[in-house]
Amino acid sequence: MVKETQYYDVLGVRSNATEAELKKAYRKLALKYHPDKNPDEPEKFKEISLAYETLSDQKKRKIYDEGGEQAVKEGGTGGGMHDPMDLFDMFFKFGGGSRGRERRGKDVIHQLAVTLDELYNGSVRKLALQKQVVCDKCEGRGGKKGAVEKCGTCRGSGMQVHVRQLGPGMVQQIQSMCSSCEGQGERISAKDRCKSCQGQKVIRERKILEVHIDKGMKDGQKITFRGEGDQEPGLEPGDIIIILDEKPNEMFRRRGNDLLIMACKIELVEALCGFQKIINTLDKREIVIMSHPGEIVKPGDIKMVVGEGMPLYKNPFERGRLIIQFQINFPENNAIQEKNLEKLEAIMPAREDCIVTDDMEMVTLSDYTLEHESRGHHGGGNAYDEDDENQMPRGMQCQSH
Ligand SMILES: [Zn+2]
Ligand SMILES: [Zn+2]
Repeated sequence: MVKETQYYDVLGVRSNATEAELKKAYRKLALKYHPDKNPDEPEKFKEISLAYETLSDQKKRKIYDEGGEQAVKEGGTGGGMHDPMDLFDMFFKFGGGSRGRERRGKDVIHQLAVTLDELYNGSVRKLALQKQVVCDKCEGRGGKKGAVEKCGTCRGSGMQVHVRQLGPGMVQQIQSMCSSCEGQGERISAKDRCKSCQGQKVIRERKILEVHIDKGMKDGQKITFRGEGDQEPGLEPGDIIIILDEKPNEMFRRRGNDLLIMACKIELVEALCGFQKIINTLDKREIVIMSHPGEIVKPGDIKMVVGEGMPLYKNPFERGRLIIQFQINFPENNAIQEKNLEKLEAIMPAREDCIVTDDMEMVTLSDYTLEHESRGHHGGGNAYDEDDENQMPRGMQCQSH
């Protein structure tokens, strides 16, 4: 039980989320609410950053779980909240970003939703995006050759300095952006302005990127298009970075290179007498699994097929494992007639005798419900808060996703 769930709620995960789940949630939301993409909700971006920064640090997460937000603030775990932008950059950039390039434009990050089928089989996706390119009509000058003049007001610096007399011998210098050239340091008279870009030097262009998804690529993997980011005159363009976002699959769940079938249902008769089952693979083959003669499959048993998992990235002829957990469909109440039960009993391993004596008390066994447990624990108080769900004995509950 955690004291507060607010940080978890902000990221849209449960309070028992794994590190990977936190990462994925942050990645998704940070891209969605990054001020570049969503300038209307700057607070949301900050909230997400704070929540992730806290929960991704094991020490801070523990403090938060035990004492809530207040405890984290008072905890003195060193270094207050980072700048949300720094956190974002740290998370998305390749370890520091210093690649010996100076004066580079910004990288543009896009998330691309991909299915497990695509990651299994490989695929090429076309992605259309708007991109800023240097205007080729004026070659990024903004106007006719020679029409660009240095701004007279700021003498080309783009900044204006005002001097204010504060008292005898005391002056204050205030720097501000030059208003006549809007900080550009140059001016183009209206008649010489480039018609194609209206003197902006850049235009927006539709660009189609071909994204090659290789077999075995993973959720969160980056595909970089060097120098394909927005262009600006005099700057080396940044990169376009595509981040893969693996969508959940109905049948399989992925864990590294393994594929998992969390609930393979077989009938009781199959569990006892053997079974054969067809599984449709992600590359549209049919494979048949079967039990060994004499084998009895118990509820929750886990078995595997080596070489039927995900293809390995850069080594796609090898594959991980297919891991299957079995669920047994038991017959419903009264589904077996009494005379058949006798037959069944005769062939089953014998049961142990149960000797009931007079000094024993007979009690009623009824179906388990939430209500009873809660009354017992809380003395009849409000027993219906959501958390009770988590206290259910759930065993391995696996059907989600
Ligand atoms: Zn132009
Ligand atoms: Zn100016």
